[in-house]
Amino acid sequence: MTVCNSPPGGRTIPYTKSGARKLILVLLQPYAEGLHPISLELMGAARRLAAGNGFETAGVFIGGEPSAAARTQLEGCGLGEVHLYLDERFRLFILELYAAALLRCIEVLRPDILLVGATPEGRSLAPLAAVPLETGVTADCTELALDAEGLLVQTRPAFGGGLMARIITPDARPQIATVRYGIFRGGKAAGTARLIPADAAPLPTPQVQVEELTAPSSGGKEAAYVLALGGAVRAQEDIGLFKKMAQITGAEIMCSRSLVERGWFPQSSQIGLSGRCIAPRLLITLGVSGSVQFMAGIQGAQKICALNTDPGAPILRCADIPLICDIYQTAALFY
Ligand SMILES: Cc1cc2nc3c(=O)[nH]c(=O)nc-3n(C[C@H](O)[C@H](O)[C@H](O)COP(=O)(O)OP(=O)(O)OC[C@H]3O[C@@H](n4cnc5c(N)ncnc54)[C@H](O)[C@@H]3O)c2cc1C
Repeated sequence: MTVCNSPPGGRTIPYTKSGARKLILVLLQPYAEGLHPISLELMGAARRLAAGNGFETAGVFIGGEPSAAARTQLEGCGLGEVHLYLDERFRLFILELYAAALLRCIEVLRPDILLVGATPEGRSLAPLAAVPLETGVTADCTELALDAEGLLVQTRPAFGGGLMARIITPDARPQIATVRYGIFRGGKAAGTARLIPADAAPLPTPQVQVEELTAPSSGGKEAAYVLALGGAVRAQEDIGLFKKMAQITGAEIMCSRSLVERGWFPQSSQIGLSGRCIAPRLLITLGVSGSVQFMAGIQGAQKICALNTDPGAPILRCADIPLICDIYQTAALFY
């Protein structure tokens, strides 16, 4: 079933399908010294969608003067062009200023599609751009494709992950989708982009005065190897048994929601729809059933090795290496 995320035509809307340029615009978000990894993933997604479909691609970067590392990433991003909205006032993320620049960019370029990383900043900006443009936003997409008419089909879990909804924006433009980190692999740069300094037009006076911002201590660094513990773990003391496996394989221990609900792990360790999306080189799941909600968080994993005693467990059907075995017996091999 495909549903529509914006009101049908028949009203005056700022610009519609007929007034849009066949352009996929990607918001390139600054992060630490370079670009946020989600921006790299979205560049790859934009290039794949555009290929053979007559679309052009472009990026928009809003920030202070980019560092040398960020500039290199922007130049080599493989999008046709990157529009730079640079201003010292963009050094801090002040929503009203960023929204004004993004809206200005949309007004000038009139893209058909806008892709935004579902970072806290992206999640705030996308709806703020959508409201004045009277278009829709599909949040937290797990899949993007173009249909025969060139409409963006935005797939995301709905009703608690019970079904995957396919959502379209038939008339209003741009079609805006936010995407969580770790969904699209292969953000490798594929060519040189033209950097175009842009004029942000007069910026509003912000209502909020930010004095200082502190980066989160984890820095959001992603592990290459993850060991995910599931509901099969019988007691909190047993977690120690699996730590040895994690140490030997150099993996970070994470879990399904079952163990967060039991209070054995913090929410930040939870993988899935209401937890984190991960994209490790190897994910080993121990006694995880493979609910749709859990699976929504592991789409980006390059290889999955799943251990489960039940041959009918859904995760075994999706795993590259399905192993029907007892996790306690397996853990004992490491001692
Ligand atoms: C709105 C909503 C959002 C949700 N978000 C998430 C989310 O983000 N992440 C998430 O994980 N869940 C989420 N859930 C919960 C989800 O539906 C499942 O309940 C949960 O994923 C089950 O976790 P599990 O597979 O680890 O545990 P269980 O369902 O308890 O499965 C345990 C598995 O271990 C196997 N097993 C048992 N003993 C052994 C053994 N000794 N050796 C090997 N295998 C064994 C069993 O065969 C079974 O397959 C959400 C639910 C809702 C409604």
